[in-house]
Amino acid sequence: MKEGIHPKYQQTTIHCACGEVIETGSTRKDIRVEICSKCHPFFTGKQKLVDTGGRVDRFKKKFGLENK
Ligand SMILES: [Zn+2]
Repeated sequence: MKEGIHPKYQQTTIHCACGEVIETGSTRKDIRVEICSKCHPFFTGKQKLVDTGGRVDRFKKKFGLENK
């Protein structure tokens, strides 16, 4: 087997714009990201998903579940 063809999977560090540093494994080294699991709204829950209520209303109308 020849070596050096595939990039090595190694320990690397991801630096987020929020200051979070995440140790992970990757073929890349010293990754920089603008958003991570610590500051992303989806994970923090600070920002609700868009139009959740609207979808429920449409679902109710579609299946005739509106209050009568
Ligand atoms: Zn972050």
